[in-house]
Parts: sequence; C-alpha cells; structure tokens
Amino acid sequence: MTLKSAYNIVLERFKRTDADIQIKLDKKTRQAIRKFKIEFVNMDKGTLAWTDFKTKTIFFDIRHCLDDKLEEVADTIIHEYAHVLAGEKAAHTRNWKQTYGKLKKSVGRISK
Ligand SMILES: [Zn+2]
Repeated sequence: MTLKSAYNIVLERFKRTDADIQIKLDKKTRQAIRKFKIEFVNMDKGTLAWTDFKTKTIFFDIRHCLDDKLEEVADTIIHEYAHVLAGEKAAHTRNWKQTYGKLKKSVGRISK
C-alpha cells in the first residue's frame, strides 16, 4: 500500500456518510499542520503515532488508523497536531495539554 493510498483511506474513513466523527480545524492550525508531512508506517505495539520535528513529519501507525475506532484515531490525530502547535519543547507539559484541550473541541460528533 502506498503512502498516498493509506492517507486517502484514512481520510475516507472520516468522510463516510456513516462516520459520526469529524475534525474541523481552524485556519491557524491547518497552516501549522501543512508544514508537516504525514506518513503511515508500521509502528511497534503500543505506539500509535509520533511527531518528528527534525524532519517535520508526523508518523501514524497504519493499523491504528485503518482498524481502530474513528474516535480513537481522531484523538491520536489531535494529540499529534497539539505537538505541532505547542512545539517540540512542550512535550507533554501543561502547555501541550492546553493546546490539546483546545484542539479537542474541533473533534465533532455529528448528530443524526
Ligand atoms: Zn505525545
């Protein structure tokens, strides 16, 4: 599976009409994220994703993104986006937690 097709499959999961989760990012967040590449790889068990600031790449575990519940995948995406916004030094400090908390609000449940 190529990276591009993996990316599209993950996006499709969020776009499906029966998906009840959506991520709506504000402009500032989208611009920050756009500076990073997104790659799907097979990670060690227990690791879902990580952000590499040196290469400006966000790595996601491909099986997690394709197989796990959409709300868990959305949470992983938001987690990594918070790293991008908060910066490398923030790690999982309060600064990161605040950013994550704000981003969490962009994950919406679509009522049916
Ligand atoms: Zn983290």
